[in-house]
Amino acid sequence: MTVASRYSGDAKDEIARVRFERSCCPGAFVRGMSRFSSAAHSQIIVATERSAVARAALAGAKAAGIDAVADRKRTARLADRTMLTVRPEMPFSTAMVPARSCCRRAWLRGAFLASGSVSDPARSYHLEFFCRRDDDARALCEALASLSVDAGMSRRRGRPLAYVKDAESIADLLGLMGATQAVFALDNVRAVRQTKNDIRRRVNSESANAARAASSSARHREAAMRAIRTVGLSRLGPALAQAAQLRIAHPELTLAELAARARPRVTKAAMAYRMRALGLIGKPARTRRGSVKRRR
Ligand SMILES: [Zn+2]
Repeated sequence: MTVASRYSGDAKDEIARVRFERSCCPGAFVRGMSRFSSAAHSQIIVATERSAVARAALAGAKAAGIDAVADRKRTARLADRTMLTVRPEMPFSTAMVPARSCCRRAWLRGAFLASGSVSDPARSYHLEFFCRRDDDARALCEALASLSVDAGMSRRRGRPLAYVKDAESIADLLGLMGATQAVFALDNVRAVRQTKNDIRRRVNSESANAARAASSSARHREAAMRAIRTVGLSRLGPALAQAAQLRIAHPELTLAELAARARPRVTKAAMAYRMRALGLIGKPARTRRGSVKRRR
């Protein structure tokens, strides 16, 4: 398990406690588990460190009429951990993917408890089934597709894996397997992340707007002062003279606010026009881009 996390372990414990929907389901559950646990020549139902998973394997086998035994071993590979292995007394077939949807969900739960893991949503969105055989990964992808969950196939250390990447699909699949608390936790992380993004976006756009407004106010103010220097306040005409005075007196106001202070009141568009006109008056002739008629 390469993406194991506390979150993953909690999700597994939750899935291990899910009750079977119907009497047909335990067999599907045990077959799913065994298919994704067994190596080529030795059939087991599951090998796990989680006692909830081993208990679910034993209970499922019992309900399905499969005799099974469990053993507990400290492994050399996992020095301080105990591996619980559940084995069937007699081999059974694991080839089929169940047709009924209740059984397919049970089969998926078994497959996930045997080979699955899910990363902590606070770090990344990734759920995978680390398989042993290509047809296992393919069968999983097909079963997931039949339940409307989008899965992909990949390979790690030579072994195939079926994975689910986006948050929505992971939540769907966890929900389908009965991991309600895990879905709540994931939705919560997503909601917090979404809110943070919204706030960041709004702050960015507000400060960009404020900066834009401040720089155009400063530009208009300079233009107004230049126009007054160039032709004199009295020769600007009452409308432009008033606009220039308002802009110089209130650098902090927006165009709309300036427009509201004009007497008589004018529209924001008319005030913008006056600012453009003031801008043209002070400029040397060669940089003028078209002329603006004075408006009364
Ligand atoms: Zn069933």
